[in-house]
Amino acid sequence: MRRKLAAGNWKMNGTAADLAEVEGICKAHKGAGVDILICPPATLLSRLTDAAGDVIATGGQDCHAKDSGAHTGDIAAGMLADAGATYVILGHSERREDHEETDQDVREKAKAALAAGLKVVICVGESLEEREAANTLDIISGQLAGSIPDAVTGETLVVAYEPIWAIGTGKIPTLDQIGEVHDFIRARLEERFGAGVGRSTRILYGGSVKPGNAAEIFAVSNVDGALVGGASLKAADFSPIISALE
Ligand code: PEP
Repeated sequence: MRRKLAAGNWKMNGTAADLAEVEGICKAHKGAGVDILICPPATLLSRLTDAAGDVIATGGQDCHAKDSGAHTGDIAAGMLADAGATYVILGHSERREDHEETDQDVREKAKAALAAGLKVVICVGESLEEREAANTLDIISGQLAGSIPDAVTGETLVVAYEPIWAIGTGKIPTLDQIGEVHDFIRARLEERFGAGVGRSTRILYGGSVKPGNAAEIFAVSNVDGALVGGASLKAADFSPIISALE
């Protein structure tokens, strides 16, 4: 049985004043039967981990593939763990685009994260052009094969399907389209890692998840939760999304 996961990606948003949102979520969801994760900017990780207590897990939004060294501005996986993170998002489309990260880069970062004891949320997703050219499943297949290292388990791996054209746009795929991709990802994971890992790995949907559409998305087959951007910043938005999973 896969435990549902509501994950928030704060991206480059949030200062100390926003920790009040975390306190609100903790109060509303103490003892929730689902996992809750917030990945704030690195500057807030330690303080948010303190505010999150045992209700919310915290994670980084990226890490370097190396343990330490001359990499100005970068953060090693072990440093995220040291600041209280238990997860890290890797291969988000904004990093693939803004920082030209390749599947191979994501795989190396994931290996470093796993070695540091972190769980990895590996993002995959097609552009609008790729969807319109009917290439979605090929793109997803290539990203899964290239980005996920061999040494994962259902405990340490989370896959997030995030169609690039749905991120921050208010547009979402049809429920059939979401189901098609999630079933496909499940099949690829089972094929590569076997039934044990393949069936226990959580697959999140991400892209314009809001309080108003969360329940219908969560009812789709093989959707084990969501990776939420904009609607994770305020407790008033994130809390009903978490409730829709509970
Ligand atoms: C994201 O960036 O991971 C995301 C899903 O963003 P939004 O929910 O704002 O579309």
